[in-house]
Amino acid sequence: MDPDYEPMVIASGKGCFLKDTRGREYFDGNSSIWVNLHGHRHPRIDRAIRAQLRKIAHSSFLGLTNEPAPLLARRLVEFCLPEGADPAEFPSRVFFSDDGSTAIEAAIKIVVQYFSMSGQGGRHKFVSLSRGYHGDTVGAMSVGHSDGFHGHFKKLSFGSQEAMSPHCYRCPYNTAPPQKGADARRSRKCGFECVQEFQKAVDACGDSFAGAVVEPIVQGAAGMAMHPPGYLAAISEATRKAGGKLILDEVMTGFHRTGPRMAFHAEDCRPDVLCLAKGLTGGYLPLAATIVGDELVQGFMGGPEKTFYHGHSYSGNQLGCAAALENLAILSGPGFAGRLQKKIRLLEKESGEFWQCPHVGDVRQSGMVLAVEIVEDPATKKPFDPALRTGWKISEGAKRHGLLTRPVGDVLLLMPPLSATGPQLRRAVDMLCRAIASHFGQ
Ligand code: PLP
Repeated sequence: MDPDYEPMVIASGKGCFLKDTRGREYFDGNSSIWVNLHGHRHPRIDRAIRAQLRKIAHSSFLGLTNEPAPLLARRLVEFCLPEGADPAEFPSRVFFSDDGSTAIEAAIKIVVQYFSMSGQGGRHKFVSLSRGYHGDTVGAMSVGHSDGFHGHFKKLSFGSQEAMSPHCYRCPYNTAPPQKGADARRSRKCGFECVQEFQKAVDACGDSFAGAVVEPIVQGAAGMAMHPPGYLAAISEATRKAGGKLILDEVMTGFHRTGPRMAFHAEDCRPDVLCLAKGLTGGYLPLAATIVGDELVQGFMGGPEKTFYHGHSYSGNQLGCAAALENLAILSGPGFAGRLQKKIRLLEKESGEFWQCPHVGDVRQSGMVLAVEIVEDPATKKPFDPALRTGWKISEGAKRHGLLTRPVGDVLLLMPPLSATGPQLRRAVDMLCRAIASHFGQ
C-alpha cells in the first residue's frame, strides 16, 4: 500500500460517467470493475429497485422464499441457454449467493458433495488454468493461480492441478513472430498444445479428478488472456470424457460482455455448473448465482442428509433480484444484441489506433473487452520491469484525459458499459492513446 496515494472520491454517476467530489467527470472505462452494463442511474433499474423497496428490501431465504428470486431463477436459466439448445442438457437449478467468490465456493462444494454422496468421494481434485483468478475466498483461491493474489496463502489452499493458460500472445508453443496489427489467436503457429496440456493435467489427477474450473474465452485478472477458438469446446469434451464436472466461471464474461449472452455460447460447450455475479444486477447490487445441471441436482434429492449445508444471510436478496430481473429484461429487449454487435465492430475498428502508440505489443479484443499490452520491446514481446509499474502509471495518467480505468499489470483495459455510444467509445480509445503517448513523452 502506498501511504501517499490519495484515492479519488466518487460522488455520483450518470450513464457512462462518474463525477468526483471536486466536480470532475470521468468516463467509466472499466465499468466500475467490470460490473456495470447499462450505465449509472439507469431509469429502469432505478425504478425496479424503488418498486421493490416499497414492498421489502430483504427477508431470509433459509427455509423460505420470496417473490422475485424464483422468477429471476427461471429467467436466468432461460437467458443462459444457448440458442436452440435442449434445456435438459444445460444447468437449470439456481443457488443464490453474494459475489463472484461465493458463487465459485458454492460450485466447488456442490461438485465435491455430489461425488461424496454418490460413492465417488475420491473425486476431489480440480484442474484450473495458470494465472486464473476466481476470487479471494479460500476455496476460490485454491483453484486460482495468481501469485499476487494467492502467494501468501498457499499453505491454506487445498491446491488444484494447474494447466497452462491458452493465451496465444504469450504462449511458449506459438512460433509465429509478433506482428503489428495481428491477433495472436488467429496468426498463431502451433499444434494446439494447450489442449494437450489440459489433458495432461486431467490425467495427472487420475481417479481424483472432480472437474475443471475455467474462465471461458477470456481470463480477466490474468491480463485479459484470450483463448484460441476451439479450446473451450475441446476441454469441455476432455472434462466430460474423464467423468469430471465443468465449472465455468462467467463472473466477468457473462451477460454479453464478450459478445454473446454468455461467453460459452461461442463454442460447443456443455458446462455442468455456471457461476455468475458482477453484471447480474447490471452493476447495481451484490448478487451471484451458481447454476447447476440436473445430474448434479439429482444427487441432492432425498432426505435431510442430502442437504447442501451452505448459505449466506443475504441469499436471494429481494432488491438484488429486482435489479437483476430488470437487467435481464433490458438485455433481452428488441434489437439489444444487434446494437451491441455494431458497437463491438466499431470498437474493433477504433482500436487499430493503438498500433500507432509507442510500446504496444498486443491489442486484443473479445466483445466489449479491449486489452492493450504494453511491452518494452514489441519485436520480442519483452515486458517492462514490473517494478516500473508502467501500466499503473499510464492508467493514472489517463485520469488527466478524463478516463478512469484500471490495468492488470502492463495490460491496459477498456471495458466500458455496454450502453456506451459510438462517439463515447471513439473518445475512450483516443483518451487511452493520448495517455500512452504522453507517458512515453510523445
Ligand atoms: N471470477 C472472476 C473471473 C473474476 O474476474 C472475479 C473478480 O474479478 C471473481 C471471480 C470474484 O468475484 P468477486 O470480486 O465478486 O468476489
